[in-house]
Amino acid sequence: MNLDLLLPDCDLDTAHRDFALRIREFAHEKLAPHARAIDEQRTFRREMVHDLAAAGILGGPLAREYGGGGWSPLQLAIAHEELGAACGNARGFCAVQTGLVAQCIAKYGNEAQRRRWLPGLVAGEAIGCFGLTEPEAGSDIASMRTHAKRAPDGSFAVVGEKWWITNGGIADVMILFATQDPSLGRAGITAFLVDTKRPGLTRSPMPGVELGHRGSDHAVLTFAGFPIAADEVLGTGGKGFGTAMGGLAAGRLSVAAGAVGIHRAALSEAVRFTTGRQQFGQPLAHFQMVQERLADHFTSLHASRALVHRCAQRRAAGTETHADVAMAKLYATEVAAKATEDAVMLHGARGYSSAFPVERYWRDIQALRIYEGTSMIQKTILARMLTTAPQRD
Ligand SMILES: Cc1cc2nc3c(=O)[nH]c(=O)nc-3n(C[C@H](O)[C@H](O)[C@H](O)COP(=O)(O)OP(=O)(O)OC[C@H]3O[C@@H](n4cnc5c(N)ncnc54)[C@H](O)[C@@H]3O)c2cc1C
Repeated sequence: MNLDLLLPDCDLDTAHRDFALRIREFAHEKLAPHARAIDEQRTFRREMVHDLAAAGILGGPLAREYGGGGWSPLQLAIAHEELGAACGNARGFCAVQTGLVAQCIAKYGNEAQRRRWLPGLVAGEAIGCFGLTEPEAGSDIASMRTHAKRAPDGSFAVVGEKWWITNGGIADVMILFATQDPSLGRAGITAFLVDTKRPGLTRSPMPGVELGHRGSDHAVLTFAGFPIAADEVLGTGGKGFGTAMGGLAAGRLSVAAGAVGIHRAALSEAVRFTTGRQQFGQPLAHFQMVQERLADHFTSLHASRALVHRCAQRRAAGTETHADVAMAKLYATEVAAKATEDAVMLHGARGYSSAFPVERYWRDIQALRIYEGTSMIQKTILARMLTTAPQRD
């Protein structure tokens, strides 16, 4: 058994390898021991937020002037693979807190908004959420109905509903997307950056029990005349669709890297189990049908990480296109889903129990295929790019 072959380390230079090791040790010590319990008990662990902040992970990719670590996109990908391998809930939290909320504020906010919110988000003193999805507007967010009615003084009153909002029940600050005129489609959408602690907002847990990510908070947010001041617009009024797309495109790198982490964890468990478990007088790993599965998932793990790192490097170089992150997310999540499914199968009945982690990996990975643009939506992005003539200046 040589599980080191599954790690990214041999492809990294010394500085990045040391970085990966630091995050891996943190995740092993502070996150992995709680991963099963928070899933079984369906609890959001507030201590996790403090631990992530103390390790410099919440602020990782943000600029140092706001308390961030100035990570490169490659460092983000490396870190989120390690988090994903240890605890899908922790990686998902970081993706929203840092990837969707803090990075959007850094990119689209004005200086006053950055100074007000980024230090608290980096320190874990404030929790953020990204309110985009509605019951009738999921993949097609331009059809959103949550309405921001503008008063003559420039302030707004919001009426509507968002759901599936990660951290929605506990967030202090929210990026809220609402339309000023549903008939305008994407041109009617504005992004707002608001403190959640004001009247006109009711928060309730999502109905039902989630398949995975059970240690995360997912909420329904109901707005009934929720007041927003004129200076709480994030970016430019009417440009919220672009803000949402920009935030999601950035965030997809974390999802893709997290999928690599889950894939790696599932394959590690499958190797460990099939080399130990004996049937018909020999370890399961000696049977060719088992070997085929291990070999396939070993290969696809490295292929998916290569796509993720390629995307990160193109992002750092300023040459990234929407195709890069779409390919990385699509491929990494889909092959990870196959790897987790086989990891469950290779464990036999043990794979069907929470006493072994593989069923959790299988449940958690399903969400990564859905949020921040489903696999089908990534395919539509890729096919559209491929079949549309390039725009020339
Ligand atoms: C764990 C979890 C956390 C989430 N966190 C957040 C959050 O923090 N903030 C937030 O705003 N949202 C969040 N979401 C919501 C998520 O972003 C949406 O679920 C997702 O965008 C899909 O929307 P939908 O569920 O309405 O599915 P739909 O858009 O209704 O899609 C249903 C099916 O139809 C397919 N489909 C739709 N359109 C097309 C098309 N044009 N071509 C081919 N197939 C298509 C989809 O791929 C999918 O398979 C979260 C979801 C989950 C599961």
